[in-house]
Formats: sequence, structure tokens, C-alpha cells
Amino acid sequence: MTDVIQLLPESVANQIAAGEVVQRPASVVKELLENAVDAGATHLKLLLRDAGKTLIQVIDNGCGMSETDARMSFERHATSKIRDAKDLFAINTMGFRGEALASIAAVAQVELRTRRTLDELGVRIVIEDSTVKVQEACQTPAGTSIAVKNLFYNVPARRNFLKSDPVEMRHILDEFQHVAMAHPDLFFSLHHNDQEIFHLPPGNLRQRMVKIFGEQVNKKLVPVEEKTDILRITGFVGKPDYYKKTRGEQLFFVNKRFIKSSYLHHAVMSAYEEMLPADSFALYTLFLDIDPARIDINVHPTKQEIKFDDEKLVYNYLKVTVRHALGTHNITPTLDFEQEPAFQVTPTRTPTLNQPANPSSSPGDYRSNRPEDRRHQDNLRNWQRAYAGLDMFAATNGGGATPADRADADIFPATEPGGGGTYFEVRASAENTRMDDETGSFSKGGKEPYQIHGQYIVSPIKSGFLLIDQQAASERILYERYAEALGNQPMATQNALFPKTLELAPADALLLRGILPEINRLGFEIAEFGGNAFVVHGTPAELSGNQSEETLVEKLLAQYKDNLDLDLDLHDNLARAMARSAALRRGQTLSVPEMQDLTDRLFACAVPFASPSGKKCLLTFGLDELRKQFEG
Ligand code: ADP
Ligand code: MG
Repeated sequence: MTDVIQLLPESVANQIAAGEVVQRPASVVKELLENAVDAGATHLKLLLRDAGKTLIQVIDNGCGMSETDARMSFERHATSKIRDAKDLFAINTMGFRGEALASIAAVAQVELRTRRTLDELGVRIVIEDSTVKVQEACQTPAGTSIAVKNLFYNVPARRNFLKSDPVEMRHILDEFQHVAMAHPDLFFSLHHNDQEIFHLPPGNLRQRMVKIFGEQVNKKLVPVEEKTDILRITGFVGKPDYYKKTRGEQLFFVNKRFIKSSYLHHAVMSAYEEMLPADSFALYTLFLDIDPARIDINVHPTKQEIKFDDEKLVYNYLKVTVRHALGTHNITPTLDFEQEPAFQVTPTRTPTLNQPANPSSSPGDYRSNRPEDRRHQDNLRNWQRAYAGLDMFAATNGGGATPADRADADIFPATEPGGGGTYFEVRASAENTRMDDETGSFSKGGKEPYQIHGQYIVSPIKSGFLLIDQQAASERILYERYAEALGNQPMATQNALFPKTLELAPADALLLRGILPEINRLGFEIAEFGGNAFVVHGTPAELSGNQSEETLVEKLLAQYKDNLDLDLDLHDNLARAMARSAALRRGQTLSVPEMQDLTDRLFACAVPFASPSGKKCLLTFGLDELRKQFEG
């Protein structure tokens, strides 16, 4: 019997390693920029073609390389930055793994030109598929230029996997901005298809932030500066009156390395306490400088995660520091959002979506604790605009309208043909609503929605009506809620009186084990019980009642598996899976408050128009359009 184990050829090993280091053009951008920073460059230029798919080039004026080093730089585990294991605990450079160039050269066509200041000639190396094609002396400015062409040209599966240019560009911009923000004292520029997108002259952090986030932040920055023996925190946080509903302007750097940490994010947000409306994000760019021995950046190949030896301490210190900064700069909570009446709209509808309201949670609790319900209040303003004209029905019907309102609308009460209630024919003046004199409208019960075929909700609005697909809408609503839950606001659990043991198929058990922490954020309380068994101590408060634990977990896993093909990130996948398994189905009858609630919550969503899988949630029918159709 012959032996079967062989060592992989270097180029194959490199390609495998590249899978971790080079996920997309943005990863290359990050590695090249960081190398240039490590090389002591003060002037860094990034040139891109087709969102980096055709070309990514970084030109720097750093220390350059000797001919031997230039050749060596493409070897795996070749680095000038650490020499032995103990250096791992004293890392002051961005790179240290010695993997990036080797990985990039395994999956792209790379051209390197480099020269040290004192050398007369530089060197040019062309390398493809981990094979050196050209190595020659050349004339080149001092510093290094690395051009990475046709990324994944030799790995079609990965090339096809690349997203559209805008998506890839978005990722590149993130990486670029992170590096540029971490080094405001260096010049950076970015050109895409010959167009200069960023031109960042050297300056201080405030100037860099303004260049990256926009002029409007200039007056909104509060400096942060605090120092102890082990930790220094510097940077800026935004004043509480400058906040956004989406993430994107929150950056942490630990020893100048951009990191993601929802834990530290939470520390900063909690320093704002009541000063921010829930579900909104203050801006910040904070630098934590800490003895490298106290952190482990070796956690992940792309190094966006970091471990502190004492996380709690960092958390508390960060929180206190930010609060102190907000305090010293006299940021008292005289906030305009508190005075804005629109925020005081208190929805009174029942919280039901597709299940009967959970008796243990009152509607009040439900509203105020849910981040998306705060958003709901916020977005309600926009939403109400669609109903603005219709409110006149209610106004004349129940008071609240000013005389001016009444004067604007020409209202003729009339008796409903079928007897019973009253309906109103409204002739609104042109400037008040867009309806003209000819298009009077009438409606029974104002803006009350109704359901057809157990599938669609018809909801009258000022300019016509909306037709809402209840399943798609409910999926959208739940998806956003679950995404939120996975991000920073875990959902409430309904504890089971009698914990239930589930015995799963080995493959399912493996799957479930892998996503257990996330699932538990969604309101499940599931623990491993050895082998393929799990104990369910609780299920999401919102879902409990009509489905057994087995069914819930089963459905969720099934959806999750389906989604794996879509190659979503874990949170996205789970949020979708949960939304799908919990959403309203066709044929489910809804009461008027349930329909109203669904509609309101749909419009409180960040993306109300489509379900997570891209199906339309609603169609709009304009009166004008309808009239035209009738006219034939
Ligand atoms: P790492 O950055 O982890 O050391 P890389 O594969 O990114 O690994 O780079 C390998 C080596 O190539 C670096 O250690 C450095 O010595 C050299 N190098 C890479 N880019 C540059 C550059 N722009 N200027 C000078 N030297 C560079
Ligand atoms: Mg590197």
C-alpha cells in the first residue's frame, strides 16, 4: 500500500491562505495601504479601476525595498516586522503575518516597482499565480508601487462571487477611510477610473474627520482626551444633537488599527444615556492606545477583532471618559428632538402582528422598549404625510380641526347609501392637497384599511391607496427587528414552565451549535445538553404561544440552511430565517388594528418597500392613474 499524503505545492497553499486574507478587492486595498503606512510613507495614492476588479494600485513614498527583499516579500510568512514569537506581543505595525503579498500574488497579476532612496536603480517584479514572470532593474521614484490586476483571474469561482461595483466600492471606501482616519498626518488620495474621489492633505484628526464625514460635522465634534497608566483615549465624539439612524460614523482604533466592537460601541452609547433618541447613533472616532502586551490582535486574519486582557475595565473607562467629555463641554440635554411634537406621538394600537398579544407584556412596555418602535415614532412623521389629506375626515368627524382646516376643505356630509354610518365627500382646495375639484373622494371610516383574499391590505392614503402584501410586509418588519436584535438589542425571552429537550440530527445539531449565541439573542434560550441534544428553556416572547419549541427551532434551521446558499453573513442569514419562519402567511385573517399596526410598522422600517428577499411589500395606486384608466 503506497502512502497517500503529500505536501501541497506552494502556489496551492498560497491560494488557500488567500481565501482568508483576500476576500474581495477591499481586502487588497487594506493590505497595500497598511504596508505603505508600515513603510513610513507620508504620501499614499490609491488608484482603482472597476471597483478594484481590474486594478488596485498603491503608490507610496516609503522606505522601498532592496532587490532581495522585493523578491522575498512575496514569500509566505515573509515579514520584516517581527522576528520571533515574543515580538507578537509588542506589535507596533499594521502587518506582521507576512501573508498579504504572498496571498495577493496567488490570486492576481501583480506588478511591483520599488526603490530605496539611496539606491540608484529600483527593481520591477511581475508575478502571476505565485510565479515570478519578470525581475529586472528599473527606473522608479523612491518608494513602492504595487499594482494588483485582475483579482481572482485564476479563481473563476471567486471572481464570480464578487458583488456589483457599487458594493465592492463601498467596501473599499470603508477600508480606505479607516486607514486614512487612523493617520491624519499622512497624505492620501483615491482615484477611481481616473476620477479623484478623495484628496486628503495631511492635518489633524478634526480636519480629517471633516474631510471624511463632511463639513457638517465640524461644529458637532467634542474632543475626548483621557489617559491612565495603561490606556489612553483620544479622539472626538459627536454632540448629542448630531445623530443618525444608521451606523457608519462610528470608528474605533486600537493602536491605530480599526476594529469593530459592539461591546465598546455600547460603552460609548451608554455614555450618552438619555441624550440620544433610542435606535440612533452618535458619531465618534476614538483612538484607544494600549500596551500591545495587553491585547491580542492575532485573533482574526483580517484583524478587525481584538481581545483585551481586561475588557470590562476598558468598557468602563471608555464610558466614563466619553461622559466626562460630554459633560465638560456643557452638552446638557436641551435637545431639539425632545421638543419636537412628532416624537410625542404615542401609538395606541395593539401590538399584535400575527399572534395574539402576549398577555404578560403590556402594549406600553412593548412600544417603549423596542428600538424600532422609537424609529416608528420618528418615521411616523413621514408616514403621516401620506395620510395628511385623509385626516380631514377624522378632523370633522371628531374635532381637533382648526377653523382654517375646515375652510380649506369643502366638506359635504352625506348619508352612506347602505344606511348606517355617515360618509363625507371632500373637495379640498388645490394648495392643501393635490386633489383637484373634480376628483372628490369619499371613504368609509377615513383611513381604515381592509383585507382582501386574506393576502392583501388595502390602505387608503391621500393620493390614492396602497396595496400591501401582508406576508412580504411582515417579513420585512420582522427581518429588521431581528437584525437589530442580533446587532445590539437582544430580544425578550418567554421562559418555558417545563424546559423541553430536543434531540436533533447530527448535522442539524452541528448547525445549531454554531449559531447558538446568535439564536439566543433572538429570544431563544437554548443550551447544549451533550451529544445532539439541546434544552429549550425559553422561546422568543413574541412567538411563543402557538408553536411548539420543536417547530420553531426546526423552521428556523430549515430557513437558515436554505439561506446558506445565498452566502449571506451570519446575522443577515439568521434575521432572514427568523423573519421567514415567523412572518404572517397568506390566508391569515387580520383585524383592523392588526392591519393598522402592520402598516405603521412597515413604514417605520428602514426599507419598507421590499421584503428581505426582494419581493415588493406594497404597490401604490394614484387617483390620477385610476381616473385615467376609467376614462379608457
Ligand atoms: P506583513 O505586512 O505582514 O509583514 P506583507 O506580505 O504585507 O506582510 O509584506 C511582506 C513584507 O514586504 C513586509 O514585511 C515589508 O517588509 C515588505 N513590504 C510590503 N509592502 C511594502 C511597501 N509598500 N514598502 C516597503 N516594504 C514593503
Ligand atoms: Mg502587510
